[in-house]
Amino acid sequence: VIAEVTERLDRAAHLRRDTDRLMAALDSPKTLFVPVYRDQNFVATGAEVRAVLVPGDRAATLIDAASEIVWLGIVGDKNCFALDLSNLPEPLEHPTLAGLAALADLRFVGGLLPALEADVLVYARGMLNWHRRHHFCSSCGQPTKPREGGHVRFCEAEDYKHFPRTDPAVMVIVCRGDKCVLARQPGWPKGFYAVNAGFIEPGESVEDAAIREVKEELGLDVGDLRYFRSQPWPFPSSLMLGFRAEAASDEIHVDREELEDARWFSRDEVRNPVGFATPPPYSLAHHLIRAFLEEK
Ligand SMILES: [Zn+2]
Repeated sequence: VIAEVTERLDRAAHLRRDTDRLMAALDSPKTLFVPVYRDQNFVATGAEVRAVLVPGDRAATLIDAASEIVWLGIVGDKNCFALDLSNLPEPLEHPTLAGLAALADLRFVGGLLPALEADVLVYARGMLNWHRRHHFCSSCGQPTKPREGGHVRFCEAEDYKHFPRTDPAVMVIVCRGDKCVLARQPGWPKGFYAVNAGFIEPGESVEDAAIREVKEELGLDVGDLRYFRSQPWPFPSSLMLGFRAEAASDEIHVDREELEDARWFSRDEVRNPVGFATPPPYSLAHHLIRAFLEEK
């Protein structure tokens, strides 16, 4: 069931309207299919964590069982589709998958997968989550239909295209000298501390959102805002934009509506955490923290 994937993912957006090509790809034995069940992905059972990518010559009954099919693009030299198996009562019992696959949440296993497989699975999960939540037009309430390889849902009543949404959010590691702020929200696992984050609001720049979020949650004024990097976080539909900022003072005023706790941690404390834990390697927060630790 596991096909080898060694190259890159090409979203090839220019081919999404080429229905004949996509229909032919659906029938090709070389094509790869990425099954998804609700918000869980299929990983191979075995010592290594690997994605389950079903080759076309094994996929016919899975295609028949799929409630949605989305063309993801080309992986290496193979067409690749996501299949939504959310309507199957027992997806792991399906003959193609039985004994070979387990269900997993990418938030926890994403970092264990080869990078390309994680990219493909996260893309499949995000697209299919969007379809499941957009069966009806948010404007007129009529049913919508998938088009363009599953990258559009169309409202015929209004002749209107709905596109998959991505909600940008800022994540800011606030630093001052040898220390940074880590915070925890109520309901997180005990002792888990992460980096402050919040959604960007309509009409707001990314930079203004970063400064506002820190002020609201921590009561801190920050300057010297530096962009770090971004990470898709389609759980269900975020894009995290990472920043480092320098605090103007030490005095934190925690917003207790949003956070259970926030405090300063020295580099030594973060390097050797005692009584608390920080985000796993798959997350942008992990990389923001690591970059802070590596600063001279
Ligand atoms: Zn409509």
